[in-house]
Amino acid sequence: MTKTSVYLDHNASTVLLPQAKEAILAAFDISGNPSSIHKYGRSLNAIIDEARTNVAKTAGAKRSEVIFTGSATESISQAIIGGSNALEVDQIIISAGEHAAPLKAAKASGKDVEEIFLLENGLIDIAQLKDALLKLDESGKTALVCMHEVNNETGIIQPIKQIETLVGATRHFLFIDAVQAFGKFDLDFSSRPVDMMAISAHKAGGPVGVGALLVKSHCDEVRIIHGGGQEQGRRSGTQSAPLIAGFGAAAKYFPISYDAKKIAGLVSSIEEGIKNLRSDVVIFGQEAERMGNVINFAVPELKAHTALMGLDLEGVCVSSGSACSSGKVTYSHVLCAMGISPKLATGRLRVSLGWNSTKQDVEAFLIAFEKILKRHEYGLKNPAQEN
Ligand code: PLP
Repeated sequence: MTKTSVYLDHNASTVLLPQAKEAILAAFDISGNPSSIHKYGRSLNAIIDEARTNVAKTAGAKRSEVIFTGSATESISQAIIGGSNALEVDQIIISAGEHAAPLKAAKASGKDVEEIFLLENGLIDIAQLKDALLKLDESGKTALVCMHEVNNETGIIQPIKQIETLVGATRHFLFIDAVQAFGKFDLDFSSRPVDMMAISAHKAGGPVGVGALLVKSHCDEVRIIHGGGQEQGRRSGTQSAPLIAGFGAAAKYFPISYDAKKIAGLVSSIEEGIKNLRSDVVIFGQEAERMGNVINFAVPELKAHTALMGLDLEGVCVSSGSACSSGKVTYSHVLCAMGISPKLATGRLRVSLGWNSTKQDVEAFLIAFEKILKRHEYGLKNPAQEN
């Protein structure tokens, strides 16, 4: 990525860490299959081994609990579709604020699905979850509860400890989508009453195309991809040693490179700057605890598509929320679940900072955004000239 552009879309994908790039390129120099007995196979296997140690360490997991996959989306499908069948649960309980991956996997599982609403502040409705679990307990049924640690659009940090206490007190299972949390704070997987957790390399300074599912030993049968028996038989398919090497290096160096305090300071400057430019700006999720690297907001009447294209022309890359494969600005199920009007929600912009973000990036964003606002205000006054 050239430094002439300002990249503030780290929640969609972070900038690759130099250490990760180096590890990937070094692994690409070795040909072969990591399952082969010969020296090339053994070298690649050793690379995967080291990466497993690093990922396990950063996630607070045992090495045996780490299954490498092709993405967090795959890990999520494995946990929800594979997990709900292997664990023979009667129901999937899922929050309305999940990423599309868990929501669609739950639908595809063929299980009965109960959705837990979000409160207006963006937090999962704990009272509704409690009721749902009570009902299941009374009828002797079990559920796989699927929740996210940090929301990818708003940055809201969910009350996972409370959810763990509720689920852990019963005989239900808990899956956590920790994609936006991995590397940013201690996940402590092994010691928490969490059965499965999904993480992704490219959200933490690693490459796209590799993720992991963390699983406790009692969920051993959770698998959807069958074949040669790689990853302890839990996810067959020849492992990509270069991508896994990049994931391992990122897991080791991302927590050191990600200066949460500095990044939160930069995001505060953005918040202050946009409030100075437009006092009617609406910042989503303000009432809840949020990750300090992201701000999700809308200016009434300013269309996200117009703002995103204008910012892009100014060399500033941000997004409107979840990265959608169509590349279009679609409606946000997360903001709608928080009761935000669809009209305001379609104007949302998400600015997410990362390990290499600087004060200059923030200044460039604010200068560019001021230009977009001026053009928009001019367009409102002169409707014939607005394109
Ligand atoms: N879950 C969350 C919260 C995400 O933010 C994302 C990516 O945006 C995913 C899951 C999917 O991750 P991946 O791109 O590795 O499939």
